[in-house]
Amino acid sequence: MRRRFIAGNWKMFNGPSATSEFMSAFVPKLASSEDIASNINKGMMEVAVFAPFVSLDAATKGKEGSPLIVGAQNMHWEKSGAFTGEVSAPMLKELGCTHVIIGHSERRHIFRETSEDLHKKLLAALEENLTPVFCVGELLEERESGSTFDVIRKQLMAGLKVMDGSDVADKIIVAYEPVWAIGTGKTASSEDAQEVCAFIRKLLADTFGEGVAEKTIILYGGSVKPENTASILSMKDIDGVLVGGASLKPDSFLGIAKAAVQ
Ligand code: PEP
Repeated sequence: MRRRFIAGNWKMFNGPSATSEFMSAFVPKLASSEDIASNINKGMMEVAVFAPFVSLDAATKGKEGSPLIVGAQNMHWEKSGAFTGEVSAPMLKELGCTHVIIGHSERRHIFRETSEDLHKKLLAALEENLTPVFCVGELLEERESGSTFDVIRKQLMAGLKVMDGSDVADKIIVAYEPVWAIGTGKTASSEDAQEVCAFIRKLLADTFGEGVAEKTIILYGGSVKPENTASILSMKDIDGVLVGGASLKPDSFLGIAKAAVQ
């Protein structure tokens, strides 16, 4: 059985003070919620928050002693250099991060990150033993024109090109996030999300073999809330959720983790 991965993407919310407050409230709740704690201890579930760069220190300090994972939302592909405003994988590791989101749709569409940029970021994250959460997803017009699967195939394969199965199995988490469902309150139906996640698993199987595909954690993201989590996670190929808005408050994020207990 694959473990569940429950991830909160805070985007440009929760500065350092708000992050410390979140941790003070969330970490004890996570520890005292017996079903979640037991799932985490048995390796059946992981819970992660992806904080803004400036809040990572507060997040790693605030979670000390807790199995809560702290990750970043982006990184540069070079280790260091003249790249004003950028942050590298070794810097994230120094702060205690173990995971990093790569290719969130806001990075692709607002900041114009290309597939080649994202490929370089994936390789750089793997080189530093950071686990990338690699996001793929179609725009509304792409869904409406029937090109969802083409878009997903191109994004996934451009990101994972030149890799072999050992780079992917257990090392990369894939997140399917239809862009039209992010922050809009519109959730893909569980069946639609399953259809694309199954397609992703099939692509991984065709490219890297069944063994790699079976091990890979695939998330759904897009207006996930405590109320729709169980239905989404009842789908065979969806192993977890990437949550924006509903991860900002300890109680709603805890509600999502609770709904994910297996
Ligand atoms: C996200 O930020 O990846 C996301 C899915 O946001 P929301 O849950 O708010 O739709």
